[in-house]
Amino acid sequence: MAVAKTPNNVVTFKGIGVSPGIVIGKAFLLDRWKIRTEKINLTNEQIKKEINRFQKAILLSKQQLAAVKERLLKEVEDKTYGSIIDVHLMILSDDALVKAAEEMIQQEKVNAEWALDQVLKKFTAIFDAIGDAYLKERKTDIEHVAERVKRNLVGEEAKGIAEITKDVVVVAHDLTPVDTIHMQKSKVKGFATDLGGRTSHTAILARSLEIPAVVALGNICSSVQPGDAIIIDGIEGTVIVNPSKEIFTQYLEKQRQYVYYEKELLKLKDLAAETLDGYRIELAANIEFPEEVPSVIEHGAEAVGLYRTEFLYLDRISLPTEEEQFQAYKKLTLQLAPRCAVIRTLDIGGDKINPELPREIEPNPVLGLRAIRYSLKREDILREQLRAILRASAYGPLRMMLPLISGIAELRTVKAIIAQEQENLRRSNIAFDERMEIGVMIEVPSAAMLTDLLAKECDFFSIGTNDLIQYSIAIDRGNRQVAYLYEPLHPAVLRTIKMVVSAAHNEGIWVGMCGEMAGDPLCTPILLGLEIDELSMNAVSIPTIKRIVRNISRKEAADITYRALSLPTAKEVETYVVSEMAQRFPDIF
Ligand code: PEP
Ligand code: MG
Repeated sequence: MAVAKTPNNVVTFKGIGVSPGIVIGKAFLLDRWKIRTEKINLTNEQIKKEINRFQKAILLSKQQLAAVKERLLKEVEDKTYGSIIDVHLMILSDDALVKAAEEMIQQEKVNAEWALDQVLKKFTAIFDAIGDAYLKERKTDIEHVAERVKRNLVGEEAKGIAEITKDVVVVAHDLTPVDTIHMQKSKVKGFATDLGGRTSHTAILARSLEIPAVVALGNICSSVQPGDAIIIDGIEGTVIVNPSKEIFTQYLEKQRQYVYYEKELLKLKDLAAETLDGYRIELAANIEFPEEVPSVIEHGAEAVGLYRTEFLYLDRISLPTEEEQFQAYKKLTLQLAPRCAVIRTLDIGGDKINPELPREIEPNPVLGLRAIRYSLKREDILREQLRAILRASAYGPLRMMLPLISGIAELRTVKAIIAQEQENLRRSNIAFDERMEIGVMIEVPSAAMLTDLLAKECDFFSIGTNDLIQYSIAIDRGNRQVAYLYEPLHPAVLRTIKMVVSAAHNEGIWVGMCGEMAGDPLCTPILLGLEIDELSMNAVSIPTIKRIVRNISRKEAADITYRALSLPTAKEVETYVVSEMAQRFPDIF
């Protein structure tokens, strides 16, 4: 949402700051989605050029699909992918879509994206009216093909993130986690998007990669021109386009102060996360890539509390082999020792998909074939990953964690498979840690309700608040429209955490938290008061959380928690905790 516009074109936008830091740079507009709906009327002279552009995009799409198919056939056993690509290639060679769009460009004198959209709409209406399941799937195929062509049409003007070679700030309608992975290797210094939420994986990755970012800005994409000067303030969630000289100077100073503050905090690196009255808690880091380990250590993490292994799979076309995974996990273990790492099995699905791979479209991916459900469907992939983790456990302290467990039966099934793989390794005389702990993520409400039983059958819990909040309050964690309902201090969330912690402690197992709530300074006193044993967060948040832990007593935290739990709404809890914390930490709250 643009909140202010001044005569010299300075525009200030307010969104959600999802990755702290300040960056000042030039805008790079990644507007592949925006172009989708824009209609441009062409002059007679422009038509030929437009058809040419369209044909080039079709050709490029065909070449890309052929290349993907070739690689898939070589690298992936499941041949169904190959046949989906054949269908896509057929659609591109069929007159129905391509010729119809060309005719529309010619006759109605409109741009290719618009023409393609109109033709697509006609097809969709026909398919919808038929209502046959098989044909519905073909509709999805046509949509996918059209999307690829549009991407390639835009691609003529806008390069992909992976190819950015100059320092820029990316402005986009939306970004996928895979786009964010590419940023790591490119020169992207910050980003701002129309859509998104605090706990979307794109936001989480931005924090891990320490790229300042603001999301949920509404319409920044259509208000920025390529090359505009732009300031991203990931602390306040503000974006300023074409800043005046005064604003520019002001932000340079703010940037300097932020860097200084961060440096000062790092001095706490080797001190324990211990309250004023000597109560200790473990502060750990979440990682998506093993390359983050130096930053994890530098920020004073005592362990890796969550390694999201799916990022090994996301930006590549074939799955990593057991050996590749083993090498990655082993390297992580050796680099991190004597600290422990919790390796989570694959949590693919939901918003974590590989856009290059053809897939069955799910109407509700977040409630669909995700995480452990995917692993149990593709037991071959699960078994390879289990063997890789088990083998790596011979090289240092490792734990294994299972995502999206929804009940006891699921846990037992996975544990039986783990036991079989352990037995296979024993028989082959391959070393692994016989006592490696196996933990369960508590992120589905049904699992939270069953923690008294689950605690008897696993070694630890880690509360995944990103999903637990999403599924408990029924809000899509990546949807900016309902972002205001995403409240970690919601009384239902606090009660659930309390229940999970006491179920774990009753059975004598430890319980951690690895959702973003763990790194939110406002939640720290309550999480201390609820007696969570470990908090795992993005590495950059650790020093701030440590500072809070070291400057509050366990008694104070317990008193704050007791009162907070008696309040009926998230707003009241928040107002109360802010008032308590502002007295103690006026510079943070
Ligand atoms: C969570 O859901 O809180 C979690 C840590 O897992 P992810 O964010 O990867 O879904
Ligand atoms: Mg989760």
